[in-house]
Amino acid sequence: MSSQFPGNLFVVAAPSGAGKSSLVNALLAEDSGIQLSVSCTTRAPRGAEVDGVHYVFIDNPEFQRRIDAGEFLEWAEVHGNRYGTSKRWLESRMADGMDVLLEIDWQGAAQVRKQFDNAVSIFILPPSFEELRQRLTRRAEDAPEVIEQRLREARIELAQAKNFDFIIVNQDFTHALRDLKQVVAAQRLRYAAQRLSHPEVFRALGIL
Ligand code: GDP
Ligand code: ADP
Ligand code: 5GP
Repeated sequence: MSSQFPGNLFVVAAPSGAGKSSLVNALLAEDSGIQLSVSCTTRAPRGAEVDGVHYVFIDNPEFQRRIDAGEFLEWAEVHGNRYGTSKRWLESRMADGMDVLLEIDWQGAAQVRKQFDNAVSIFILPPSFEELRQRLTRRAEDAPEVIEQRLREARIELAQAKNFDFIIVNQDFTHALRDLKQVVAAQRLRYAAQRLSHPEVFRALGIL
């Protein structure tokens, strides 16, 4: 399941607090050609999170029902909660030729890579553990013990960076955002994408 979809599939992962949501939101604000997949989760909503916008918040029995019904393209347990990507939504967006971005953990990214050989995977690195701790504390969305758990798990997650196509170091935000945009732009210049964007040029030049 890959090349019949004209759209690009971007997968972004990072340890909690590395700045993945901030970077992805800034990218989407400037690029209307990418749609963000809204995951389902059993985690409780944070202060400003809206059901159906940031996540679809469901309880454990409903999550299990969706697993059993085969509704998830991938799912994983992360920091004690379950997260999953809706298969139907993703396939309909990609069939429309939209570029789609998944903000998911490394376990989910590995499952997606197995199913879509043309997925483009991007891992966001924080500049240091100290900075990661400061960002999670400054964000003030999680209880101190949750922050400690996320920092412990960050070490395991960081070991997965080597399996990703692109690495972005989020030290200076503007620089990191520029890097992310460049990855997206480069992907859109691939042969298959350019053939779809400029069929008249390829036809006129007799390129198959
Ligand atoms: P964050 O790490 O601060 O963004 O906190 P969240 O609770 O929003 O997300 C926790 C982790 O779950 C992050 O690594 C997310 O990328 C990951 N995650 C979110 N949605 C999904 C999903 O649909 N599938 C998988 N596998 N992981 C997800
Ligand atoms: P994630 O989605 O990876 O958990 P967030 O995007 O929520 O991370 O970022 C965590 C915190 O760090 C937020 O408060 C955000 O404003 C801040 N942040 C993100 N990128 C940077 C950066 N380059 N420099 C300083 N703070 C940042
Ligand atoms: P529900 O919880 O009723 O399934 O979904 C609530 C809202 O979120 C609906 O608008 C639904 O279309 C949307 N939704 C459900 N799952 C997903 C998903 O995985 N991705 C996206 N983008 N939207 C979803």
